[in-house]
Amino acid sequence: MENFDLAADALNLSIDVRNMIKYPERILHVNLPVRMDNGHIQSFPGYRVQHSTARGPAKGGIRYHPGVTLDEVKALSTWMTWKCAVVNIPFGGGKGGITCNPKEMSQAELERMTRRYASAILPLIGPERDIPAPDVYTNSQIMAWIMDTYSMTKGYPIPGVVTGKPIALGGSLGRNEATGRGVYYTIQSAAEHLRIPIKGAKVVVQGFGNAGSIAAQLLDSNQAYVIGVNDSRGCVYNANGLDIPKLIMHKEKTGGVVGMANSETISPQELLALECDILIPAALENAIDASNAGAVKAKIVGEAANGPVTPEGDAILEKNGVFVIPDILCNAGGVTVSYFEWVQDEQHLFWEAQDVYNRLERVMKNSFAEVLKIYLDRKVSMRTAANMLGISRVAEATVLRGLYP
Ligand code: NAD
Repeated sequence: MENFDLAADALNLSIDVRNMIKYPERILHVNLPVRMDNGHIQSFPGYRVQHSTARGPAKGGIRYHPGVTLDEVKALSTWMTWKCAVVNIPFGGGKGGITCNPKEMSQAELERMTRRYASAILPLIGPERDIPAPDVYTNSQIMAWIMDTYSMTKGYPIPGVVTGKPIALGGSLGRNEATGRGVYYTIQSAAEHLRIPIKGAKVVVQGFGNAGSIAAQLLDSNQAYVIGVNDSRGCVYNANGLDIPKLIMHKEKTGGVVGMANSETISPQELLALECDILIPAALENAIDASNAGAVKAKIVGEAANGPVTPEGDAILEKNGVFVIPDILCNAGGVTVSYFEWVQDEQHLFWEAQDVYNRLERVMKNSFAEVLKIYLDRKVSMRTAANMLGISRVAEATVLRGLYP
């Protein structure tokens, strides 16, 4: 909300338009009774929020987590609206979630809960209405169950109702690595703007999961040195660059990055403070805050994670001249390839991986250039510039559509 107001003020948006675009359009709260493996029935609260459909169907993931609340789902759906608008894909924003602990549930329980949730939100979703995708602790199998439940109810296969599906059910090539690849493209653009060659640049990655490891791999294969990496179990460091392909194999084999050959162990605080050109927070929200932002020495921070820098952390980075690529731009590669998946499903025509990469590169680099132009012309932060671009597109569509009735 703070960021919305900053951008809306810079855009001189009228109170009327703000009132039309600020709040979620539609909120559904469901209760999901599920028969557990022990024979008893447990009820889980679930949500689906459509923040905006001004520019197209709502789009956004489904989260399974004990901490899911309606407020969180509302905030995440709003984020999706601006993110889709920044990369100019014809979607609005949505989000869903179930308050549950998937780590304590069997596959059979997860399937029954997912199918009950899919049927409970069925009146809201559909390829032309609202298209869910995976988020925290949901995956392609869960998308397959939602696609099947929806299709069985309608009576024919409708793959375009979800994205992030298995390839065998109409998923897109390149979807799995899309977020990390998009992070890489925006970092390339930022480095070009700041005249920092990727070749020889020193990189630190916090969070070596899907997004972080793919971005690290692409930077490494373009001759950057990834000198420090961590995951939830610890950090590894090598001043001359870690061997990223070997680190990926090591993580697959042992479950973590720690213990990698030719690496030293350092603390998470030391990792963030390493002398480097590029820092990629790719793990958690609020990782860089007032307590550690001052120690960041990177010239570029590429926000692969959602919300990794707090507003206080942001102010410190800005004061110190760190160039931040904001999350709604930096990690929008995932939703962009989700859009490509939906297009392919709707057309029943599937693209080669290289087509996906080329189109993704165009979208990410064009979007970066548009945000950079606002940043330079209006002398605002990159975050405000990205929000201004996203919010202005949603505002324009809303005003053009007018007020019904
Ligand atoms: P993931 O689960 O694959 O990876 C997360 C990584 O972070 C894991 O390696 C985990 O060990 C590590 N981690 C957890 N706690 C940590 C800690 N305290 N310190 C250091 N590392 C820690 O998740 P992901 O899909 O790569 O997502 C990472 C972030 O990117 C999230 O904020 C997510 O919302 C965001 N994101 C992901 C996508 C996507 O398509 N994958 C899209 C947009 C945004």
